[in-house]
Amino acid sequence: ASDGAPLLVLEDLRRHFGGVKAVDGLSMTIKSGSIHGLIGPNGSGKSTVVNVISGLYTPTAGRILLRGMVLPSGSLFQVSKSGVARTFQNLQLFAELTALENVMVALRGVYRSPLPLVLLGLARREERQAQADALCLLDRVGLKDQALTRAKDLTYGAQRFLEVARALARKPDLLILDEPAAGLAHPDVVQLIEIIKRIHRRGISILLIEHHMDVVSELCDTVTVLDGGRVIAEGTPDEVKRHPKVVEAYLGQ
Ligand code: ADP
Ligand code: MG
Repeated sequence: ASDGAPLLVLEDLRRHFGGVKAVDGLSMTIKSGSIHGLIGPNGSGKSTVVNVISGLYTPTAGRILLRGMVLPSGSLFQVSKSGVARTFQNLQLFAELTALENVMVALRGVYRSPLPLVLLGLARREERQAQADALCLLDRVGLKDQALTRAKDLTYGAQRFLEVARALARKPDLLILDEPAAGLAHPDVVQLIEIIKRIHRRGISILLIEHHMDVVSELCDTVTVLDGGRVIAEGTPDEVKRHPKVVEAYLGQ
């Protein structure tokens, strides 16, 4: 889709857990080519939105449209095939595998297959290609020099960047990052911002879930603010920062 056209549209999306209305009638449009921020206090429903979009959860009600087509609900595979990739707020890496192997597994698109089969089953030529592709993705997140380090031995920041490289292996049009700056020290946050800008320059649209307003201000063209599973404000970072409801929601924490 051309820049500015609706890429992902959420229509009156709801996800309830018993009495908890985690997402409670959310409508928003992510435009192609944008870095769209989704912010809000803890428990406002951000991760649930990501889980519903990525097919991990089925929506209680509402629709999700990708490039104008209804996304099948509750199918991780279908959503990933449609060009949407995500990272997790809590890291989902293979601790004992190297950074390179972690990306190679993601390149094969197999979360569930037994690992040895995946790694051994690659024909040699194919394996070399996969290695080259994986190295290229590691380079994009500044981890090329640590390709052969086991995930568990990487710094926390590097683990977060590796998670981004794994998501990029899906060759997404839309990359959803769920609090990628969580727990990062300042220098790592600066590097993360550069990584996100670089990914965006390659034509990937981004939905950035973030808690820190400064990261959002630096990166996003549009921001949607959630509270209690509903939109309380939307606009440019400067607009939402000054919005009385946003000030109140953040001060109330
Ligand atoms: P955020 O990511 O903005 O911090 P979440 O989407 O994680 O918020 O959570 C929103 C609300 O939904 C919270 O009250 C949370 O406890 C609840 N919630 C999220 N996931 C589940 C679940 N799997 N089961 C029950 N309640 C959940
Ligand atoms: Mg969350």
